[in-house]
Amino acid sequence: NKRTKIKQLLATGEAGQTVTVMGWVRTFRNNQFIALNDGSTNNNLQVVATLGSFDDALLKRLTTGASVKVTGEIVASVGKGQTLEVKANTIEILGDSDAEKYPLQPKKHSLEFLREKAHLRFRTNTFGSVFRVRHSLAFAVHEFFNRKGFVYLHTPVITASDAEGAGEMFRVTTLPLENLPKTEDGAIDFKEDFFGKSANLTVSGQLEGELGAMAFSDIYTFGPTFRAENSNTTRHLAEFWMIEPEVAFNDLEDNMNLAEEFIKYLIQYVMDHNREDLSFLAQRLAEEEKQLPQDKRSELGLIEKLEFVLNNDFERLTYTEAIEILKESNHNKKKKFQYPVEGWGVDLQSEHERYLVEKHFKKPVILTNYPKEIKAFYMRQNDDGKTVAAMDILAPGIGEIVGGSQREERLDKLEQRMKEMHIPAEELSWYLDTRRFGTVPHAGFGLGFERMVLFVTGMTNIRDVIAFARTPNNCEF
Ligand code: ATP
Ligand code: MG
Ligand code: MG
Ligand code: MG
Repeated sequence: NKRTKIKQLLATGEAGQTVTVMGWVRTFRNNQFIALNDGSTNNNLQVVATLGSFDDALLKRLTTGASVKVTGEIVASVGKGQTLEVKANTIEILGDSDAEKYPLQPKKHSLEFLREKAHLRFRTNTFGSVFRVRHSLAFAVHEFFNRKGFVYLHTPVITASDAEGAGEMFRVTTLPLENLPKTEDGAIDFKEDFFGKSANLTVSGQLEGELGAMAFSDIYTFGPTFRAENSNTTRHLAEFWMIEPEVAFNDLEDNMNLAEEFIKYLIQYVMDHNREDLSFLAQRLAEEEKQLPQDKRSELGLIEKLEFVLNNDFERLTYTEAIEILKESNHNKKKKFQYPVEGWGVDLQSEHERYLVEKHFKKPVILTNYPKEIKAFYMRQNDDGKTVAAMDILAPGIGEIVGGSQREERLDKLEQRMKEMHIPAEELSWYLDTRRFGTVPHAGFGLGFERMVLFVTGMTNIRDVIAFARTPNNCEF
């Protein structure tokens, strides 16, 4: 049962060859021309059912959405838009599709509509391109680190650690609901829910990743990550994928260099391997932007934007410098922020991040040395006593795509910071061991995979770049 994929057929097929193709009918015209798609490319294969060669009962079943198996001969196409087509010898319907009920009509559907039909949206050109690009990006992640000799470490999904201390954890329980222990005031007591211990879904693989770096020197994780984000933004999911390299003997500067090189590698990979899909997405974006008022449209098309990022250094500045720029721009009436930056110490909102990237520098930005109060306990404390060796990478159209830091490798400093933040040292004794036995400077970062996919595809809602989005109001399929 040999099957030729349509992408391959269109690229390397030769007239005269007999082939078998299988796929789903996109359209059927003039009782003769089937546009067939198998997901390998947005270019449909034209299958010709020569008039008079097939009985009417069969032709009636060639409706949009039906699945078919076609055996036939490759011939040069006279129609426009393709050079090859297949003249069908046999057509077998594998699965009928009721044209009246099939939700995807051969027309352009809105992304909102397709979000409601997420189980079928892979069959559209937009989502075909998005998910082939996503696949390539995932492949490129492994290629990048493999070439550099990193070990791919699988950190656990179920864990007791709350790396970020942000309290956005999904709790895991092994107990029947009615047996959940209660605190004195009647709330559920989650201290003993995982076989007598406490557990949650991972919010970051970093702490476990650091253990790996302290042995393999260079590791990365790439897996599902969970945050109970009860917010409806276009860049937050309850379940997302994160890539987290952790490197021994690296400092903040090395960390920024690695992150910038990594992002550029991913972009280059997709430019080299997904040209057809990128062109499709670029055109889609351009059409979408035509609906916007002039001043809301981007100056560069999608591909030009990616090329620009590849060819320019990211802007690097400190948090303190960024605050000065943002305070300055408060005074400019036209650029007023919804949350004006009053002064040093506040966390940046995404409107501030996007202002720096899109309006001020017009390129990706790496911000360093954030106030320690707004960052996690494990970040290395700078000598000023106020800031930590953190770095966030901000991308146009998105804001933060990377959060990283040099880690605090000095046991006494780390313990003192944990005390200040009321983090019990007993619970992280395994983590502190890396500082007790052969500690070294080390650094790492987390890249939100979906935010990277958003950036590369030019899509604007994170729900459209993950196959099955998990958000406060969507957990069905
Ligand atoms: P944000 O400020 O956007 O909420 P964060 O600072 O809470 O992000 P980090 O803890 O720094 O996120 O996580 C590292 C990276 O993971 C982020 O830079 C981002 O790319 C991604 N990320 C974080 N939370 C989410 C989420 N809920 N959905 C998708 N990606 C996320
Ligand atoms: Mg967050
Ligand atoms: Mg953040
Ligand atoms: Mg962050």
